[in-house]
Amino acid sequence: MFDEGSSNLRDLLGGKGADLAEMTRLELPIPPGMTVTTEVCNYYNSHNNKFPEGMEQEVLSKLKTVESRTGRIFGDPKNPLLLSIRSGAPISMPGMMDTVLNLGLNDQTVKGLIALTSNDRFAYDCFRRFVQMFGNVVLGVSGDKFESIIRRHKDELKVKLDVELDTKTLITIVQEFKQLIKQEKQQPFPDDPFAQLWMAIAAVFRSWNGKRAKIYRQANDIPDTLGTAVNIQSMAFGNIGSESGTGVCFTRNPSTGEPVLYGEFLMNAQGEDVVAGIRTPQPISQLAKELPHDYRRLVGLCALLEHHFKDMQDIEFTIENGTLYILQTRSGKRTAQAAIRIAVDMVREGLINKNQSLLRIQPTQIEQLLHRQIDPNYKQKPLATGLPASPGASTGRVIFDTDEAHRLGSSGVDVILVREETTPEDIHGMIAARGVLTSRGGMTSHAAVVARGMGKPAVVGCDEITIDATNELLVSGNVTVRKNEIITIDGTTGNVLLGIVPTVEPDLSDDARLLLSWADNVRRLKVRSNADTPEGAAMARTLGAEGIGLCRTERMFNAEDRLPIVQEMILSATDVERLQALEKLRPLQKGDFLQIFRKMHGLPVTIRLLDLPLHEFLPKYDDLTNKISALKANGGHAKSLNVEERMLRKVMTLMEHNPMLGHRGCRLAISHPEIYEMQAKAIIEAAIELEKEGLKVHPEIMLPLVGIVNEVKFLRNKIAAVADSVMESEGLKISYDVGTMIEVPRAAVTAGEIAQYADFFSFGTNDLTQATFAFSRDDAEAKFLKDYFDNKILTANPFEVLDRNGVGRLMRIAVEEGRGANRKLKIGICGEAGGEPSSVEFCHELGLDYVSCSPYRVPVARLVAAQSALHEKPITSGENR
Ligand code: ADP
Ligand code: MG
Ligand code: MG
Repeated sequence: MFDEGSSNLRDLLGGKGADLAEMTRLELPIPPGMTVTTEVCNYYNSHNNKFPEGMEQEVLSKLKTVESRTGRIFGDPKNPLLLSIRSGAPISMPGMMDTVLNLGLNDQTVKGLIALTSNDRFAYDCFRRFVQMFGNVVLGVSGDKFESIIRRHKDELKVKLDVELDTKTLITIVQEFKQLIKQEKQQPFPDDPFAQLWMAIAAVFRSWNGKRAKIYRQANDIPDTLGTAVNIQSMAFGNIGSESGTGVCFTRNPSTGEPVLYGEFLMNAQGEDVVAGIRTPQPISQLAKELPHDYRRLVGLCALLEHHFKDMQDIEFTIENGTLYILQTRSGKRTAQAAIRIAVDMVREGLINKNQSLLRIQPTQIEQLLHRQIDPNYKQKPLATGLPASPGASTGRVIFDTDEAHRLGSSGVDVILVREETTPEDIHGMIAARGVLTSRGGMTSHAAVVARGMGKPAVVGCDEITIDATNELLVSGNVTVRKNEIITIDGTTGNVLLGIVPTVEPDLSDDARLLLSWADNVRRLKVRSNADTPEGAAMARTLGAEGIGLCRTERMFNAEDRLPIVQEMILSATDVERLQALEKLRPLQKGDFLQIFRKMHGLPVTIRLLDLPLHEFLPKYDDLTNKISALKANGGHAKSLNVEERMLRKVMTLMEHNPMLGHRGCRLAISHPEIYEMQAKAIIEAAIELEKEGLKVHPEIMLPLVGIVNEVKFLRNKIAAVADSVMESEGLKISYDVGTMIEVPRAAVTAGEIAQYADFFSFGTNDLTQATFAFSRDDAEAKFLKDYFDNKILTANPFEVLDRNGVGRLMRIAVEEGRGANRKLKIGICGEAGGEPSSVEFCHELGLDYVSCSPYRVPVARLVAAQSALHEKPITSGENR
């Protein structure tokens, strides 16, 4: 029974059941009922669709209590109790599973309902809804078939809305519905209320394994093993007449987080009328005019619920003849912007503390904050404007068909799914689309709620556009947009724009900065950024990076003004020539470092010396041979022919069978130490110049692709010699570190040796992953990883989410043995995984000093590092002793 449970029993009762129980304990107006547990669901689904022994008897005996509390009797032709059969999983899956309302009606009990209410239109409206929902959810007759019967009657009566159907028509509709079911399913509609009850419970259990529930679980990482509970609850009728209605409200604005009651309702309506966009709902403030007493009561209860659960609530209510009932409360889905604002406001209001606020934010929400936004200076007149249901901008092809959106979207095409409204059947299309546009429905419609939950831009209720799904076009005023044409939707303003629209990099809001500053106070792991340019460094700093963990020097070599000099260096026939070329590069390199150091003054900068094989800086073999044959054919200049042929010979000598494992990284510098010597000189000179200006500079010189301690010894000596001579001649000593990238498995397993000659380690998890799996990333991702996922050989891409068991194991060895040999060893990670939430968590657990990631992932890493610290079991003073 609801009064036996509480919100702590989510796993057993499901979220909806647990919260109904909690609200019942708080003595809120909840229609009485009971919950059949998730355990029963799992039993049913694993025992050939059989209820466990004794379940029916228990339900029947509890039903007696519900009957005595409501004064109605289930199945009684004079005084019938009607039930709502609702699904509810431990993790809320809004709209994904099924509900049957008004259960218990048949030709006899409907008479009883009329007698009780003296309202035959109401009674047949319930009956019509019941047969429709039961036929669809339990018996599996397609919803369209019912809708088309209703549509035909509306057309005949020349009316638009369900509420305009009269009693006589509703009676006919019920008959036609029953015939439809008989035709489709070769079985009569079950009249026995008890048969209805068992069938409905079974259907809810089965819906756990329905297509859309599975897709939703997959998209949201919800385990298949949870199962759903079933709530059996007496009905509250919002469709009895003008003193009745139903609605949904959020205790704060789910789009912006603004602390105002936010919601919609419909008078004389039931169940999902509001979310399904059957009629356009009214804003909740309007209820103050329609039913002021109930409105005040609702406002009070919303405040109470938010206070009790200490989170923004999404509340369903129904008013039956002036009496308010609460049907559901749950933590409301919200946009990233709203999540941040609500968390920060609730700390200010004293509802939660700072640490709790940090645990409220999903890492993906921080990522969403940094999605690109439409350039505010862009002034094109929008094609139409709808409701800004879920913020962010998306551009894509207009697609009307959900399956097609799914197909195109999954194959990498940017798609905007355009529908009159969405239903749970559209879930796969929404997941694959870049954004969603609907012409009907409000801010609490299915499209809006689901898109917000996914963090996907959505514009809903855009009634300025007309959608012609048959001919696959949308019309707004005199503009027609066809399928496959490009539009942009702006879920922040509600604007729909033609074509591609310029966007700008977003900035963090003040609330987000404040929240992240709280994160900085609790995290142990430092967060740096990867940046190769002064602009990148500046961006990283504004987003909170505490240094640069990887500054690659290849781009500096590749720049247009440098490439000819680099080629000159590579092609040089003698050492003297090579040194001359390098001398030309040095001031340019120094200039790069000056700019980056300046931006990062006071913070460490890790510079990785040249990593790429030399052939990357030369033209491609095929291009050269083509050019040479063209020159020959046209009797070209002997001199230019000579140049190209010389280039070709060099390209051929540098050609490698497996460049990834070839002459690159520190190996190249063992053969040609002068390259690293030049880079080291440029770094030290730049640092000294800035130190002389009074800036603080901390260069960390990083050797790539180290696998053998003697590589480090050899190169470290060369670098030290250069540094010493620069410091000598400049007359200033500065501190600098020399360390290694750990990206070759041998380096990880001999970390104890290497650490004796390294000041720091930085895990290059991209190459370390390639080498550990012996996967070449590009080939793996393009060719076979998909088969690995399909066959569950791998569940995540190890190039995105750090592989804890393999690569992680190597890292653990390196950390333990490295620190064992060198107590002061600094350890970080600079691979892409350094910004991926679960990998950041792992780095925290390994006890790394820092993670380094791309500038836009810095805020996410700051949050996750804080969350990881908060998740750690606090060491109590008892344990300390
Ligand atoms: P969901 O998980 O999709 O929100 P619900 O079980 O909450 O599904 O129910 C769907 C609709 O039916 C909601 O609009 C809800 O308010 C309505 N509803 C559920 N139970 C009752 C009830 N006992 N009386 C009246 N309406 C109900
Ligand atoms: Mg539902
Ligand atoms: Mg609900």
